[in-house]
Amino acid sequence: MLPVADAERLILDLIQPLSETETVSLESATGRILAASVTSGLDFPYWDNSAMDGYAVRWEDLKSCDRAHPQTLPIIEEIPAGSQPQKTLESGQAARIFTGAIMPPGADAVIMQEDTERNGDTVTILAAPQPYDFVRKKGEYYQAGTTLLKAGTLIEAPELALLASAKCNPLKVYRRPRVAIFSTGDELITPDQSLTPGKIVDSNQYALTAFLISQGAVPINLGIVPDQPQQLKATISRALRTADFVLSTGGVSVGDYDYVEEVLTQLGGKIHLTSVAIKPGKPLTVATFNQNNQSCIYFGIPGNPVSALVTCWRFVKPALQKLSGNGEDPRDKFIQGRTNQELKASGKRETYLWGNLAWKGTEYEFNLAGGVHSSGNLINLATTNALAIVPVGETVIHPGSMVKIMTFR
Ligand code: AMP
Ligand code: MG
Repeated sequence: MLPVADAERLILDLIQPLSETETVSLESATGRILAASVTSGLDFPYWDNSAMDGYAVRWEDLKSCDRAHPQTLPIIEEIPAGSQPQKTLESGQAARIFTGAIMPPGADAVIMQEDTERNGDTVTILAAPQPYDFVRKKGEYYQAGTTLLKAGTLIEAPELALLASAKCNPLKVYRRPRVAIFSTGDELITPDQSLTPGKIVDSNQYALTAFLISQGAVPINLGIVPDQPQQLKATISRALRTADFVLSTGGVSVGDYDYVEEVLTQLGGKIHLTSVAIKPGKPLTVATFNQNNQSCIYFGIPGNPVSALVTCWRFVKPALQKLSGNGEDPRDKFIQGRTNQELKASGKRETYLWGNLAWKGTEYEFNLAGGVHSSGNLINLATTNALAIVPVGETVIHPGSMVKIMTFR
C-alpha cells in the first residue's frame, strides 16, 4: 500500500502531455488548452477613447474651473461610440462624447456629464480636469507584440474575452484526451434491464462519463464486461487501440473474480501500482502500455461507486490534467475548514469523508454528510461538495478542529 502523496507523484511521473494539436474557432474553444502562446497583433484599446459619457476638452482651457468659476464652451460635434470624429478640437471648444467613443484629435481629457450643464449648443463645465482624465489611451492595456496567454492555459470566460478582443481566431489547442471507460462485473445491468436477483445497475458508467466530460476529456463508452478473462482481454485490447487513457471499474480487489491485473500483465502492460493507503479506494491498479510508439495509461479503479468517484477526484483528475497539456500544477490545492462533527478513521489509511463546505464569513465550515458513510452509499454523496481528510495515524478529529479539505465541485 503506497501512501496517497507517493501514489500521486508516481502517477504524475508516468504521464507525458499529449503533443497532438488541432485548430478550433473561438466559438468552440471553451475548456480547451492552448497549445501555443498567443501574441497580440493589435494595441488595446485600439484607439484613445472615452471612459465616460461627457465632454471631450483640452484640460489646459479649464485649469481654474470649478462650481464657483464655471466655464462655458461651444460644442463642435457629437461623437457616439462606434463613430469616427470629424473635427479637430481647438482651444476653447468641447465635443459631446460617449463611453467607448474615439477621442477627437486635439482633446486630452473628458469631463464627466455629472460635472457639466448643457445649454443648447454650449456646455458649462463645473470642474477642472487633470490631463487624460477618463481617457483610455491606445495600447494602455497591451500592445501589438504582447504575449497574451502562454501555451498550457485553460481557456475559460476571461481568456476567451481576451483572445476575442485581440481578434485571435482560430486557436491552436491540444486535442482532448480520449478516455475509454468500461465497468466489470457479472452483477451489472443497464438501467433499462430487469432487476433479477443479485443484479445492480452500473451507475459507475454514468458517474465516470460525467466526470470525464467535466475534465475536458472525450469518454469512449465500452459498456459492461462480465468477470471473464477472455472478454476482459478483448475489451482492454480494444480500449488500448482507441484511447490515450483507460478507466475501468471493478475487478481490482483480491476476490476470485478480480481478473484485471492478471489480464493487464498478459497483454504486456507494466503494472506500477496495485493499492494505495486511502479510504475509500484502496485497490487501485495503474499500468502503462507502449505499443507501436503509442502509449496508453490504464487505471483500474474500485467498483464501489463512492470509491470510484473518490479515486477519480484524487488521482484521475490530476493525471488527466497533466495528459491534457494544462500547464498548471495538477496536484490538488487543499483548503482548511472547521469541522462541525467528529471525524473518525482507523488511522491506517488516509481517510476521505464526504460532506458540505461553506464559507462562513471568516473561515470555511465543513459539515459531514448524514447517514451511513459506506463506499456503496450514493444518497449521502449526492449534493455534497467536499471531502475532509483524516491523515494516517489519526483516529479522530474533534468537532471545532481545523481539517484539510479537498473540494470536488
Ligand atoms: P468490485 O470492485 O468489483 O469488487 O465491486 C465492489 C462493489 O461495487 C460490489 O458491491 C459491486 O456490486 C459494486 N459495483 C461494482 N461495479 C459497479 C458499477 N459499475 N456500478 C455500481 N456498482 C458497482
Ligand atoms: Mg466485481
